[in-house]
Amino acid sequence: MSRPHALDQALALYGGRPVRQTMLPYGCQTITDDDVQAVVETLHSAWLTTGPKVSEFEQAFAAFVGAREAVAVANGTAALHAAVYALGIGPGDEVIVPPMTFAASANCIVFQGGTPVFADVDAETLLLDPARVEALITPRTRAIIAVDYAGQPCDYEALRVVAARHGLRIIADACHAVGGSDRGRAVGTLADLSTFSLHPVKHFTTGEGGLITTDDPELARRMRLFRNHGITSDHRQREQQGSWAYEMVDLGYNYRLSDIQCALGLSQLTKLRGWVERRQAIAARYDTAFAAMTSVRPLAVRPETTHAYHLYVIRFDLNALGIDRSTIFQALRAEGIGVNVHYIPVHLHPFYRQRFGTEPGLCPVAEAAYEELMTLPLFPAMSEQDVDDVVISVEKIVTAFYAA
Ligand SMILES: *Cc1c(COP(=O)(O)O)cnc(C)c1O
Repeated sequence: MSRPHALDQALALYGGRPVRQTMLPYGCQTITDDDVQAVVETLHSAWLTTGPKVSEFEQAFAAFVGAREAVAVANGTAALHAAVYALGIGPGDEVIVPPMTFAASANCIVFQGGTPVFADVDAETLLLDPARVEALITPRTRAIIAVDYAGQPCDYEALRVVAARHGLRIIADACHAVGGSDRGRAVGTLADLSTFSLHPVKHFTTGEGGLITTDDPELARRMRLFRNHGITSDHRQREQQGSWAYEMVDLGYNYRLSDIQCALGLSQLTKLRGWVERRQAIAARYDTAFAAMTSVRPLAVRPETTHAYHLYVIRFDLNALGIDRSTIFQALRAEGIGVNVHYIPVHLHPFYRQRFGTEPGLCPVAEAAYEELMTLPLFPAMSEQDVDDVVISVEKIVTAFYAA
């Protein structure tokens, strides 16, 4: 492999000059003056929480994805918890979930006393494999939680066929995939319930926040109850009715999202479409650059899906490079590239191993992929120079090790 002149320099890991002087993070929010203004206006209003901005935000987000209902909650984890609650999942029930995700995708099942059953992922996309899902169904299985890993929607058409055959419900953990679509259908409308996170590393933010979309008003009603202690009316409804009485009909939580946060969310939402497009444009530049590097490969993208690119994940050919992932990780960090790893397979965490007896070998595809994958910086405010710095750094490192 020839070594380009510009890259003929020592790795920063070994004392060479780093590509960047400042660390480029893997994700970063964009907050502009109009966002600040929207929050300030709400701070000066009568309602700081459970006021008009909550329903305004819910309606605007439902319209964005094309769903009948959206329910705003405190964070993406609360969104998953509310979804599992709305489906009535409880002790004795099994829910199928992939291991290549953030722990909350499985934790939400355990919150309600259910049992997570880990189904391995497709080797090329790292998305839940519908055939493996079907193989794990038992008389106790109630639902599937599909994770749109990195921002690519799962194969919901195939999952819906499996779910219909066995009477299961589908929750889409779409925390990575807002703005994406599968065969022309928008993420947020592909499952019985779809959950989103508004954490600052995600596509748009309210600081902390979450949303669930559904076409079923009864599920939406149950989730609004759940986010407010299981109480049938909220503060604003009681004020409007001039009443003090309320009833708590089920065990719920305080999972409310404030008006302050919803004001920020409404302002952010007006820019979301453009941000998704910017992420897709950066991903396309990465795709082109990495197509030319033999020891690096991006994840496969299924035809007919629109990838929303929360993450840009690459896999290294560790055999060809003769090193492990952690050396590459350290080398990229030393160059000023804030790489990350998504994810340690959930079933390998001590909690799951101890509580559910999940051991290495349970999901071999996810476990093998985990050893060789890495998340590169990707966020809308990245400059062209930032993107080039990432590509140059990856090239510098693979060239150094490949030639060694
Ligand atoms: C971010 C995320 C969550 C949790 O969202 P929070 O808002 O941080 O609680 C759940 N699932 C996935 C796949 C996520 O990426």
